[in-house]
Amino acid sequence: MIVANLKQLKEDVPATVTVVAVSKTKPADAIREAYEAGHVDFGENKVQELCLKHETLPQDIRWHMIGHLQRNKVKYIAPFVHLIHGVDSERLLHEINKQGAKNDRIIDVLLQIHIAIESTKFGFSYEEAEAVLSKAKELEHVRITGLMGMASYTDNTAQLTAEFSGLQDFYNRLQPTNNWSILSMGMSNDYKLAVDLGSNMIRVGSLIFGSRN
Ligand SMILES: *Cc1c(COP(=O)(O)O)cnc(C)c1O
Repeated sequence: MIVANLKQLKEDVPATVTVVAVSKTKPADAIREAYEAGHVDFGENKVQELCLKHETLPQDIRWHMIGHLQRNKVKYIAPFVHLIHGVDSERLLHEINKQGAKNDRIIDVLLQIHIAIESTKFGFSYEEAEAVLSKAKELEHVRITGLMGMASYTDNTAQLTAEFSGLQDFYNRLQPTNNWSILSMGMSNDYKLAVDLGSNMIRVGSLIFGSRN
């Protein structure tokens, strides 16, 4: 099932779109199944679970931290994390830079933009993101490679379109000067629309692994 779902999903999106298989709450065996079929990008939203799975599973898996990240936990994932999607504060960015230095690496991150109407979702406003970008250039061990956004929890296409295209416009405006390559938006329920509106990285869980409890 998992392998077939993943295959179908990859056929549904252009080859330029990276599929991050969101494996949170799912057992290592489910990940291994997808890995053995050739998939290497997996997303988790909890540091402890991410570290445990990183220890148990093949070392060439590219682990994406997609959830809200607390500063005091950056140190646990800094040695190996492939991409941190949810950078939502300047202090977090500085901590990632510090841990990048300690691990002698440059850690790739995305700035999370708050595009949803719900106030519970994390992220910068567009204005805040621009302010952070202007100051981030001096950080040598963190590299902002693009943006991430989570749309509202709704099936109202007009609402989703407004949120995704707002982020697309902002991305397109700032991409050239910032050398960005990643626009991470779209989940199981809205990835098609997100891809139509410029996403090149989708984070899909339930559609691949089945629903979570
Ligand atoms: C859980 C999660 C996803 C995947 O959600 P699905 O609806 O299962 O595809 C994507 N992005 C983030 C940030 C998540 O927390």
